[in-house]
Amino acid sequence: MKVNGKSRVYAIIGNPVDHSLSPVMHNAAFKELRLNSVYVAFTVTSGELKTAILGVKSLGLQGLNITMPHKHAVMNYLDEVDVTAKSVGVVNTVLCDHGKLIGYNTDGSGAISALQENGVYTEEKKMVLLGAGGAAKAIAYQASKDLDELVILNRTPEKAKKLAKSLKSFGAKVKSGTLSQEIVKTEMPTTDILVNATSVGMYPNSGFSPVPSDILHSDLCVMDIIYNPLNTQLAKDARAKGAKVVSGIEMLIYQGAVAFEIWTKLPAPIEVMRKATLNEFKK
Ligand code: NAP
Repeated sequence: MKVNGKSRVYAIIGNPVDHSLSPVMHNAAFKELRLNSVYVAFTVTSGELKTAILGVKSLGLQGLNITMPHKHAVMNYLDEVDVTAKSVGVVNTVLCDHGKLIGYNTDGSGAISALQENGVYTEEKKMVLLGAGGAAKAIAYQASKDLDELVILNRTPEKAKKLAKSLKSFGAKVKSGTLSQEIVKTEMPTTDILVNATSVGMYPNSGFSPVPSDILHSDLCVMDIIYNPLNTQLAKDARAKGAKVVSGIEMLIYQGAVAFEIWTKLPAPIEVMRKATLNEFKK
């Protein structure tokens, strides 16, 4: 499709955004479905967030992704925030619905879809979730609705405790603790799914893993939500132990797919989005 006067405009806003994979992923999806839509990236500083969001309304943009450092602050400028995003305290997607801005969080459902689509997720499973930051919260909210047992471990245990407490009514058996080698070692033999939602192992500290390799086992599914690098140290260690690995790029693609469906009400062309996103790593 050619960009013209009727094109619908979508954007990611954050700082920095120049390495974001979202424009490539969503523009590939628009092209595949022959939608007259275009997705761009805008660098917005914290001081400019309010005026940028007012601009979104005046310019008539159709949808937004929100990235660091605005995922929490953006809620102050939206007309509505859906219940999951409100509970998590993080908005990563905004629908502009006839001038009304509605905030969503697609990270949790994206992570769970990535696991399910890779054939790993069932209700009887126990998950150990490392981290209690924005992404971990979103995953914990979604996972605790379906899982049998969820253990949240964080460097700052108070945050994990607070998160666990907020999930009590969701059905799963939830406990929390410190992210220490001893506790991870104790939990691992009975764990089915290990998710790293800390930033340990992210570029430029790519050689690090949040857990020692000797505690990993072949019955585990390991999802490291970090996608830079694509193949993290934890993912390498897990593969070497014969564990199933779901990459962070899968979560990125599925959270993008959920956002695409919120905006367009059309099924997201997952394969096209995956191919376009993975192609960026070959450059
Ligand atoms: P965040 O809110 O800043 O949380 C960071 C988490 O990492 C906290 O739990 C923090 O623990 C922990 N942490 C940081 N440094 C640590 C260290 N040296 N040792 C142990 N724990 C450490 O960040 P976020 O938004 O949740 O993002 C976390 C990671 O997920 C990032 O790498 C991000 O790129 C990735 N992510 C991926 C996707 C995807 O679609 N695949 C989506 C969102 C985020 P404390 O609480 O103790 O500080």
